[in-house]
Amino acid sequence: MSIKRYLHLHLDLCLKLQQRLLSWVAIITQNETHFSELNLRSGSIDSLYHYHPSRPGFHSIEWKAKFEKKCFLNPNVVWIKHPFTNSRKHELSSNTKEKVDFGILFDVDGVLARGSMPLDPAKKAMEKLKDSEGNLKVPVAFVTNASNRSADKARQISNWFDVNVPPEQVIHAPTPAKLLRQFHDKHTLVIGQEHKLDIAEEIGFSNLCTIEDIKEAYPLLDMVDHENRNRVAKGDYKENPNFLKVDVILLIGEPCRWETDLQLIIDLLLTDGKPNEAPEGLNTLAQLPIIACNMDLVFMAEACMPRFGHGAFLLCLETLYHKLTGKPLSYQNLVGKPCEITYRFAEHTVSTIARKMGISKPLKRLYFFGDNPSVDIVGANLYDRYIKRQEDPNGYELPFSRLIPETDYLHKQTVEHCHSILVGTGVYKHCPEEVHKTMSTTSKTHVYHGHRDIAYEEDLSKPYKYVEDVHEGIEYILKRERIA
Ligand SMILES: [Mg+2]
Repeated sequence: MSIKRYLHLHLDLCLKLQQRLLSWVAIITQNETHFSELNLRSGSIDSLYHYHPSRPGFHSIEWKAKFEKKCFLNPNVVWIKHPFTNSRKHELSSNTKEKVDFGILFDVDGVLARGSMPLDPAKKAMEKLKDSEGNLKVPVAFVTNASNRSADKARQISNWFDVNVPPEQVIHAPTPAKLLRQFHDKHTLVIGQEHKLDIAEEIGFSNLCTIEDIKEAYPLLDMVDHENRNRVAKGDYKENPNFLKVDVILLIGEPCRWETDLQLIIDLLLTDGKPNEAPEGLNTLAQLPIIACNMDLVFMAEACMPRFGHGAFLLCLETLYHKLTGKPLSYQNLVGKPCEITYRFAEHTVSTIARKMGISKPLKRLYFFGDNPSVDIVGANLYDRYIKRQEDPNGYELPFSRLIPETDYLHKQTVEHCHSILVGTGVYKHCPEEVHKTMSTTSKTHVYHGHRDIAYEEDLSKPYKYVEDVHEGIEYILKRERIA
């Protein structure tokens, strides 16, 4: 009997038990050599893993090493707590429930980790946030400007800190595009690199095409690729004029080779998504909607100097479009830090988590930990300004590209203060020389690396509080909020 068949025979029992053990999964052993994780919500088997009897327990299986063995229903079935689901309601003690009316948001790289390695102060900070059962006692969410699949990052954070982080608790740069529901069923060109289609589907877009599809349908367009140019010269091509009109362009991240993407995106923008014939004039048609996620011009990686980020690609696109048409490129939406929509989405996320934890009080304060003054801190300060907009005697209006959609999807906005907390474990270095390099270069030399649609204001990059690391910051918050 195959292991899969064997597991299916046990599925009935598992599904019955699911009704009272909602957040648990079954590990079923066969001859103590194999086991499988069952996805009980769908009743399907996700995957098979090897179990090594020479090493007792589940220690040999990476993220499963942290499973808590609970009970044996029969010699072949072991129930364990699933680390990536919060469907089992995590209730706080009534004492804590009454006190908590705030949420904590963490940038990831430079705050909690460097690359794939968690930082020691972050491990200590997370321990401080756990209750006696190892669950987080304060609602938190993770807000990164990377573009990736949420489940991958959730799994990584869970492993780093031995805590249950479901994918819904992770906000990547494109995640708030979940709110742009009017585009979700439109024919969408997705630009990015690995997992771009998975990411677009995860945030709700269902009718997707890629730049390769555009290139194949309209082979005469890409003359920056000389191989294609030679192919066309030989007549070795076939057009597809019936290719569906593109309705919207979703820029998830920079593509691998920019020149082809720049040419074809401009072609789509100028032809209302149907570049099989030239428009009568470059300004005769309305510009196709374009959504851009993550505007970071550069970012720090292993190299000694900052590297191009998605913002560099956007700058090329904006410059080309402006040069060709004489008009500025208009974004339907900018998404990702430091734009307000991301922080609004983050407030919604921590509110959802707070409710699941049994916290009934509306959240009044957000604490945002970041290592990059011009992204994390500017964004938190912009959101603080946004939520206090009624108090602004000069009036307050967001630019079109930064408007937050009115939607029932979001919980009511209740937060009254968004406190930015800068840490010294990433981009920002807290010493006079480095301060000059990281925070004040823009003001001293008038070089602003932020996006065109976010006007430079020196004060926006100043944090509410500076701490050496996230552990010091969590101690500060717990003391301030009087949480033991
Ligand atoms: Mg960072």
